[in-house]
Amino acid sequence: NVAVFDTSFHMTMPEVAYTYALPKDVCDKYHVRKYGAHGTSHRYEWVMAKEILGSRCHRLLSCHLGNGASLAAIEDGVCRDTTMGLTPLDGLMMGTRCGSIDPATVCYLQREGGYSYQEVDDMMNKQSGLLAISGISNDARDIRTRASEGDERCLLAFDMFAYKAMQQAGSMIASMAGVDTITFTAGIGENDWSIRKAFCDCFEWLGVRIDNNKNREAVGNGPQVISAAGSAVTVMVIPTDEEYMIAHDVERLTANN
Ligand code: AMP
Repeated sequence: NVAVFDTSFHMTMPEVAYTYALPKDVCDKYHVRKYGAHGTSHRYEWVMAKEILGSRCHRLLSCHLGNGASLAAIEDGVCRDTTMGLTPLDGLMMGTRCGSIDPATVCYLQREGGYSYQEVDDMMNKQSGLLAISGISNDARDIRTRASEGDERCLLAFDMFAYKAMQQAGSMIASMAGVDTITFTAGIGENDWSIRKAFCDCFEWLGVRIDNNKNREAVGNGPQVISAAGSAVTVMVIPTDEEYMIAHDVERLTANN
């Protein structure tokens, strides 16, 4: 049997990135630290971007935007930081997860709202994110339909999704002191050109320019470059293939047995 862990790619993060500022004895005893997730997908993004772009790709911001969503800062194949934490709840706003919020909210809801630990856990993991803000669904397609009809909560859900992704992307880029490549993947990242545009437009100050036609056409067509000629950063859509990565690991790990 071969176990391929979705956290293993992130084990190269430096101590400053993975350590939580909590008492050391508590962290040691309960193994509390940032582990990240989606590592198999982020690793695939690196492998493909490097294969396609060669020496032009050093500092990659990998954006896995699906029902679960996370970013990874990858420098020469090494993960420097990622947005998910001890669990996949941290980081970006997701389909039904709230992502990063003030951690004191948990204590506040238990103390003032009378919610149990289990109720808060369910609320943050299963009743939040796009579902909570749109008020209708965690499915980006449903929200897109209603947003195009002018539904204000659905418009806000998309604006928040893109804003929070942009903000945390800023911190990922800072953690590797720059970026030359951005890749989008997973259900929303591969299919929703408006989210990609909203996200990339926030980085115009960094020289990111996308080609609007290429961006609109890059749906289900395999790896595509969507940045405009002259963009300081190459932006791509690279459909993820976690199964390929897992099969590759199985082959590598069993080759000598
Ligand atoms: P994943 O977790 O990668 O399967 O992604 C699921 C998310 O991708 C859901 O929010 C879907 O609504 C979204 N998604 C899938 N297909 C599309 C599409 N064609 N356009 C927009 N969003 C999509």
